[in-house]
Amino acid sequence: MTATPPARWEGLTCTQRRIKDFTLDDNLPDLGTPAETSRRHEPVAGAGALEVLPIEILHEVLLQLDLRSLTYLRLVNRRTMGFVDALPQYSDIIRHASNALRGILAIGTGSWISCKALHTSLCTARCELCGDFGGYLYLLTCKRVCFLCLSLNDVLLPLPPSHACRKFGLKRHHLADLPQMKTVPGTYSPNRKKILKSDTLVDHECARLAGINLYGSLAAMEQSVLQKQARMLEAYNARQTGRDSSGRPVRARRRPPALDPFDGQSGNPHRFVAIARVPWLDRASRRVERGFYCVGCEKSSRKPYHWRILFAADTFEEHLANCGEIRDGKHCTT
Ligand SMILES: [Zn+2]
Ligand SMILES: [Zn+2]
Repeated sequence: MTATPPARWEGLTCTQRRIKDFTLDDNLPDLGTPAETSRRHEPVAGAGALEVLPIEILHEVLLQLDLRSLTYLRLVNRRTMGFVDALPQYSDIIRHASNALRGILAIGTGSWISCKALHTSLCTARCELCGDFGGYLYLLTCKRVCFLCLSLNDVLLPLPPSHACRKFGLKRHHLADLPQMKTVPGTYSPNRKKILKSDTLVDHECARLAGINLYGSLAAMEQSVLQKQARMLEAYNARQTGRDSSGRPVRARRRPPALDPFDGQSGNPHRFVAIARVPWLDRASRRVERGFYCVGCEKSSRKPYHWRILFAADTFEEHLANCGEIRDGKHCTT
């Protein structure tokens, strides 16, 4: 059942803004209506060693399995498909977050995310970074996030490997075991930016932690990165003014890229390539909440009145208590 704002808030909330986010789930192929499958038939093959496990143990094992392996296991035969489909958490995911599962498999992060982790995020209401209601999942590391954090917070900006190496003083081999993804070509961000080919991106926070781990501390990492950047700039500037043996100016090479290139925030397509809009499943009531917007904040772009903040019943109650009741479409602060 989908939750709706209580009747006492009629006219104070709305479920949509007149803008489309263009996230990963908007760029996945349309699967159309599912075809009739052979699952109506009884399985003829068994599931091998899994057959001897009690159902509780089997479910615990499947829950811990990463989503890529779970998907492969499901495709082995009708018996294993039946095992996976009978897992209550998998069934919740298929019912309420199938776009997130498809997104995870499409960008190739399934081997880092367990079925349990995705289900836990589905059942988490609040943004893991700021505590507001989170209407989205960040599918590189399976975090529940809100629109403002996904469009503003550095942690949720996946980086090209060359940028991650430059910014955190890493070599390519340091990235090998970090969560990374392949972009799905398409249109991303409310500004409708095109991504034309599939590129690798690395999780920002995991790369930062790998750098800190390598250098021993954040300060040591930053010092090393800044020193290297200064040396590269110095060499570049020296080449700019240099002359060859015949007295002609040396042809300048490309300027070293900045440690922090321009981030278009909500207009940066990389901020949307690992994002899916996913409702919150309340474990207790089994109700699904997609979140709603405040009518009184429609024209504001500053927290706590920002027009992109989504609410659930409890956070909207807090919002009205902190920002004032709404009259004639505006918050009354007195
Ligand atoms: Zn947030
Ligand atoms: Zn408001």
